[in-house]
Amino acid sequence: MSKQLSQKGIIIVVSGFSGAGKGTVMKALTAKYDKYALSVSATTRNPRPGEENGREYFFVSNEEFEKLIKENGLIEHAGYVDHYYGTPRKFVEDQLDAGKDVILEIEIQGALQIKEQYPEAVLLFIMPPSAMELKKRLTGRGTETEEVIAQRLKRAKEESVGIEKYDYIVVNDDLDECVEQVHDIISAAHMAPSRNLDFINTIRNELNEL
Ligand code: 5GP
Repeated sequence: MSKQLSQKGIIIVVSGFSGAGKGTVMKALTAKYDKYALSVSATTRNPRPGEENGREYFFVSNEEFEKLIKENGLIEHAGYVDHYYGTPRKFVEDQLDAGKDVILEIEIQGALQIKEQYPEAVLLFIMPPSAMELKKRLTGRGTETEEVIAQRLKRAKEESVGIEKYDYIVVNDDLDECVEQVHDIISAAHMAPSRNLDFINTIRNELNEL
């Protein structure tokens, strides 16, 4: 990116139906490019096999979660299939100050709360290639009961109504291609005039002085 353009960190919200593979896409993206910082959410749900406290999530009790809300420690939070999920404030603010783009992998209610508080945020929605493929991926994961899978598919139907509110959709068919598309979208976002008002004004002032 040109050094004149904004190096200020942007919040990137990434949503997608459960099973669309957004976690895998974000892990690959952050492993490939170190300009991105992935926010770790707090949740009241139980860890899945292989998940570690502080890595995938901060696993907390209902009481701890409610305390975080009360102390204004979360920039957004939402309920999803019987549990709370929320984004800790401090990490996001620190990383933005350090010039990193911060990725929040969150669902739609949280995404819309972020857009309201941070209008400069970029909202991406990761789509599965088809509904059948989504069901296959959810079932193939093997970590969820039939009941939870059914709840997640129902939730996908509900969330699909809000996709138009996002800035971009990316189809997760081929992982590498999807990662590059997300990276390209974020790179382009840094070039938006609205994120470069200082530079535009500098050029205007320089033109006036020519
Ligand atoms: P899972 O239980 O499959 O890890 O996540 C369930 C849903 O909660 C996913 O759509 C995920 O993106 C969303 N989620 C994870 N962390 C947060 C968060 O901090 N805030 C919100 N609003 N949603 C989250």
